[in-house]
Amino acid sequence: MTTAPAKPVRTRFAPSPTGFLHLGGARTALYSWAYARHFGGTFVLRIEDTDLERSTPEAVQAILDGMKWLGLNHDEGPFYQMQRMDRYREVVAQMLQDGTAYHCYSSPEEVEAMRERMRAAGEKPRYDGTWRPEEGKALPPVPADRKPVVRFKNPLDGEVSWNDVVKGTITIANKELDDLVIARPDGTPTYNFCVAVDDWDMGITHVLRGDDHVNNTPRQINILRAIGAPLPEYGHLPMILGSDGQKLSKRHGAVSVMEYPAQGYLPEAMLNYLARLGWSHGDDEVFSMQQFCEWFNLEHLTASAAQFNNEKLAWLNNHWIKQADNARLAELAKPKLLADGAQFDGAPELATVLGLLKERTNTINELADAAMLFYRQPQPDAALMTQHFTDAVKPVLAQFAERIATVEWSKEAISAMMKEVLAANGLKMPQLAMPLRLMITGQLQTPAIDAVLQLFGRETVSARLAKYL
Ligand code: GLU
Repeated sequence: MTTAPAKPVRTRFAPSPTGFLHLGGARTALYSWAYARHFGGTFVLRIEDTDLERSTPEAVQAILDGMKWLGLNHDEGPFYQMQRMDRYREVVAQMLQDGTAYHCYSSPEEVEAMRERMRAAGEKPRYDGTWRPEEGKALPPVPADRKPVVRFKNPLDGEVSWNDVVKGTITIANKELDDLVIARPDGTPTYNFCVAVDDWDMGITHVLRGDDHVNNTPRQINILRAIGAPLPEYGHLPMILGSDGQKLSKRHGAVSVMEYPAQGYLPEAMLNYLARLGWSHGDDEVFSMQQFCEWFNLEHLTASAAQFNNEKLAWLNNHWIKQADNARLAELAKPKLLADGAQFDGAPELATVLGLLKERTNTINELADAAMLFYRQPQPDAALMTQHFTDAVKPVLAQFAERIATVEWSKEAISAMMKEVLAANGLKMPQLAMPLRLMITGQLQTPAIDAVLQLFGRETVSARLAKYL
């Protein structure tokens, strides 16, 4: 049973635009989106672009494109952290005033030296608190020409504990945490600080993100407490691994979401796949996003790392291709067919052709490849022709060609006519179907011959046969 959270749900997806939207990010976005949808809440998109060296406009676009393709529409944003600098400065100033942060004039060299000393003494390296104000403590004289960083006054004692919705209770002793730098000498704020301020300002109630962020959470919680912000719930999703149990990488196939439409995957298949990769609803494997949003809860998130399985994704894609409207499939397949030189003039309607072929294809690209036989001139292999267009079969094909001219143009009537011709000549279906396939399509593998003939149309079938008879 999922009980509704006390206040309206507000979730966010907060990618750093440093590459493309990868599968792990897409899953995080999907779960955050679905949780908001489940409760009629709000899904916020926030672009964490403060790493100026690694953030690019192309990467922002790649994220927006990926989200759009998946249909994970945000209700608010995108908010860009780079456009919120004034707000962060304001909070830093407030914290300095409140005494929850302080100026630190230790130089980077001094900080490194203190860390080195601690390492040598077998301690965990951290800032030693030289500039941390305490009651009755005299601070060193401020160096003349040095700009300070601002450090967060992390609690010295006690611990930070949260009940992670994926991993259970996680507790970190405050003495493990440093007095984090929240603003650099030039005043620019640092990562964990911006995230905390944003989650506060954006009223985020549930933070779902990759478990590479577990170490950041106690820091963010302490900052949120210091600024008087309510704490969101946190859920850290385990990594997605490749099929060999190693971290998912290019070696395992595409890791960028937008490579999947290029390979002919449907968004509903990708979403269905990602939904199950880290969450479960009994044994249900195939479901729509509407169903997912109804079912999705935080109780059935999987704590162990999931392995990406290309075969299962392909299987789901086949399922969703079968469900898809043929006209939509035609729109998706057409660019590839055109690129492959398909000629559509006078050829059967693409949507109908794809409807015939879609049972057996895993991707749109496979579907387009399979459809090509309808959109090019047949060029049967000469050896295959010799093998199948035998003297015994020639007169039968001639009879068949004659009947083609007048038979009622339906699959059933064509099929019945073929059977009559075969029976009259004491032949079996393949003896007629194989040469027919070669002459009409140029290949031996085709869907059912009666359906193929019907789709090509009387004129094309007659014209193609006429070349041989
Ligand atoms: N920007 C972070 C990332 O791309 C996510 C931060 C968060 O969700 O708190 O990994």
